[in-house]
Amino acid sequence: GVIVGKRVKSRRKWKRVMGVLRELEEGCETTVGRLRQVVDAMAVEMHAGLASEGGSKLKMLLTYVDNLPYGNEKGTYYALDLGGTNFRVLRVQLGGQRSSILDKDVERQAIPQHLMTGSSEDLFDFIALSLQQFVEKEGNGFTPSFVRRELGFTFSFPVKQLSVSSGLLIKWTKGFAIEDMVGKEVGECLQQALIRKGLDMRVAALVNDTVGTLALGHYHDVDTVAAVIIGTGTNACYLERTDAIIKCQGLLTSSGGMVVNMEWGNFWSSHLPRTSYDIDLDANSPNPNDQGFEKMISGMYLGDIVRRVVLRMSQESDIFGPASLRLSMPFILRTPLMAVMHEDDSPELTEVARILKDVLEISDVPLKVRKLIVRICDVVTRRAARLAAAGIVGILKKIGRDGSGGITSGRSRSDIKMRRTVVAIEGGLYTSYTMFREYLQEALTEILGEDIAQHVILKVTEDGSGTGAALLAASHS
Ligand code: BGC
Ligand code: MG
Repeated sequence: GVIVGKRVKSRRKWKRVMGVLRELEEGCETTVGRLRQVVDAMAVEMHAGLASEGGSKLKMLLTYVDNLPYGNEKGTYYALDLGGTNFRVLRVQLGGQRSSILDKDVERQAIPQHLMTGSSEDLFDFIALSLQQFVEKEGNGFTPSFVRRELGFTFSFPVKQLSVSSGLLIKWTKGFAIEDMVGKEVGECLQQALIRKGLDMRVAALVNDTVGTLALGHYHDVDTVAAVIIGTGTNACYLERTDAIIKCQGLLTSSGGMVVNMEWGNFWSSHLPRTSYDIDLDANSPNPNDQGFEKMISGMYLGDIVRRVVLRMSQESDIFGPASLRLSMPFILRTPLMAVMHEDDSPELTEVARILKDVLEISDVPLKVRKLIVRICDVVTRRAARLAAAGIVGILKKIGRDGSGGITSGRSRSDIKMRRTVVAIEGGLYTSYTMFREYLQEALTEILGEDIAQHVILKVTEDGSGTGAALLAASHS
């Protein structure tokens, strides 16, 4: 009697857990039909954001980058890259021909957590000190010290640019929260910190990471028309015609174009598949009602969505054993570890077991429960990757590279001449998470169709956001 009773009970609790899983799967559904609606909404919002200031949640920010580096830039340039999990200092030596980067030196370091929420002076002093140490280490390098050095600054937050080298911080994202910085001129903050350190360097370019990535992508491959970052945060930029930037009438550039920083992390549409976990995550974030698209896609958040689902399941049943306090701690499950669990291909899912134990203090769960964890990771990552793919197609649609413009009756899709279109991509989530990458590519092909998708190339650039800033410093000095 006791055993039978136990079995019935265990069957019941498993049923409840399966109910939670099914609800998650339904809530995260991204059929091609729905993705196409997201594509259309993205293109519509792009138009609205270009039409008037505040016309859309997509800010569609001007960058004042109207010419991407040609390749004739020559000399040694520096760059700082701030905005994700890591901070980078770079020195780039340019050879004066396209694609001729003669030498590149990159130093990465994690940003101390306390600097992300402290004062702007502390943050910029830290940055300037890192640069100073980096420059000093070069010793008797190729740059004579009497030559003033030009610096590119990649600052990966929404900035209202005043020129190619200056701009006001609109707001923080990705867990940064330094109140006194909002509204300040970012280039000047850095310039002052450099002066405090006695560094004779000039901030020649202040760029978003997407813009740096586009610059490097284009330097290597002229068919590059857009850049996407999928890392701690997510965003995209692309080359737009100035006459399409209606909110800025009379904008004239020699090229007739300008790079637009979309700030797509803040995109929103009722077509996005949103769950109760997304709503809770947003409500408990430092920036509620902001960056809705980013919170469904980027590395800062995916692990925490998974944690919330597991927490919910553990409240519904005891399949995870006694309640773990860790499960209630926001952001304790980081996305890189989620990726490890998702991609654990050992028969016993030993990595899943290890991470559950080490990070969440959940031990001795049966294989069936470990498989459930993998399933949750899969649902969350698949949705993220497919939404990012829809965002990319939205851009292609806006610039007429999605193959749709050419379809006329009587012609099949394969007749359309589709130009080779390259999108530069960067960010740890995309580069280090194979399943994410595969799901994104798969969705891209599903939405566009094979014939069109084969002309769209997603190209990873390495340290592109920083290297591109050095290139832009060179072409603007
Ligand atoms: C920022 C963007 C940035 C993106 C990727 C977002 O949170 O708002 O400016 O490009 O993260 O780093
Ligand atoms: Mg970055």
